Amino acid sequence: MEDVKKGLFVVFTGAPGCGKGTQARILKEKTGIAHLSTGEMLRQYAEKDTPLGRELKALLDRGEFATDEMIIEMVKSRIMEPDCAQGFILDGFPRTLPQAEVLEGILAEKRIKLNCVLEIQVPDEIIMERILGRYSCMKCGAGYHDKFQKPKVYGVCDYCGGTEFSRRKDDNRETVQNRLINYRLLTYPTIPFFEKQGLLKTVDGTGTIEAVSKKIAEILKI
Ligand SMILES: [Zn+2]
Repeated sequence: MEDVKKGLFVVFTGAPGCGKGTQARILKEKTGIAHLSTGEMLRQYAEKDTPLGRELKALLDRGEFATDEMIIEMVKSRIMEPDCAQGFILDGFPRTLPQAEVLEGILAEKRIKLNCVLEIQVPDEIIMERILGRYSCMKCGAGYHDKFQKPKVYGVCDYCGGTEFSRRKDDNRETVQNRLINYRLLTYPTIPFFEKQGLLKTVDGTGTIEAVSKKIAEILKI
């Protein structure tokens, strides 16, 4: 194993709304390693004039989802890019047990050893409260929350003075419940898979963004 690549290679996992995207961005800021968000990658790849890019664009334009094969191919090529040499944070991948098994093979082939898989744990009712309470300024896009991040002056955006706000249509109880059920069915089986390999670390994700990122830094020893 002497020629295993040195760096910080981690997977962030957890239910939708657990804060993994936010925490991945903070870790990227702190360490300079690449943040590989599957959602963002899909949008970027769909803009590329490559066979995969064109295929993806056609699918997304029809409102369909990318297949497992496409996502795997995308992740596989993305982790070979130079900015991933010192490490990466996978966010949104693997989303299923078959994806986790494929990832294991890809990493072995590239001689990359994961430092850990970090599960951010947040109870469902808190996730519901976080998602249902969020809204944003229609003029500048600044994000707010009914309970956790109110504008300084009621009804006025802190940043642009805008007075019109909107909520995302899919931020409703039924949709969030379905996403949580999907997480339990599809993604949760990856947790025991990583635990068996001794890679799983868990962090309590219920505190403030700063408190959670501090705990993550301790776990990763950075
Ligand atoms: Zn605004």
